[in-house]
Amino acid sequence: MNENCIFCKIVQGEVKTQKVHEDEDLVAFKDLNPQAPTHLLVVPKKHIPSLAKCGKEDEALLGRLQASIASISEKLGLGSYRVVTNVGRQAGQSVEHLHYHVLGGRRMTWPPG
Ligand code: 5GP
Ligand code: ZN
Repeated sequence: MNENCIFCKIVQGEVKTQKVHEDEDLVAFKDLNPQAPTHLLVVPKKHIPSLAKCGKEDEALLGRLQASIASISEKLGLGSYRVVTNVGRQAGQSVEHLHYHVLGGRRMTWPPG
């Protein structure tokens, strides 16, 4: 828990969101500023600043996050979707708590801008 972190506040229930899934390791909720018809954020409960700050001890958690993205997406009927994690400001990271964007419901362009 990091007191100044918006996603830690969401994990704690101090900031309200539209949660679509929660278990002991992670929460998935709707992005406040959606970039696609479905835009979820999948966030570990543990405060990790970014993918670059994960350690050996986080490897099992990373596996669970990805497996959960697949099962949550399937439950929501998302047949095709994109999973993105931004690392660092230049890549577009604005919240320093590891999160995966799950975007679906429209055609995606490649390469991303
Ligand atoms: P980043 O830019 O770090 O890759 O992604 C952060 C995402 O968090 C953005 O898409 C932004 O819209 C979303 N976000 C920021 N604050 C909140 C919030 O308080 N609630 C929700 N649901 N999403 C948020
Ligand atoms: Zn945090």
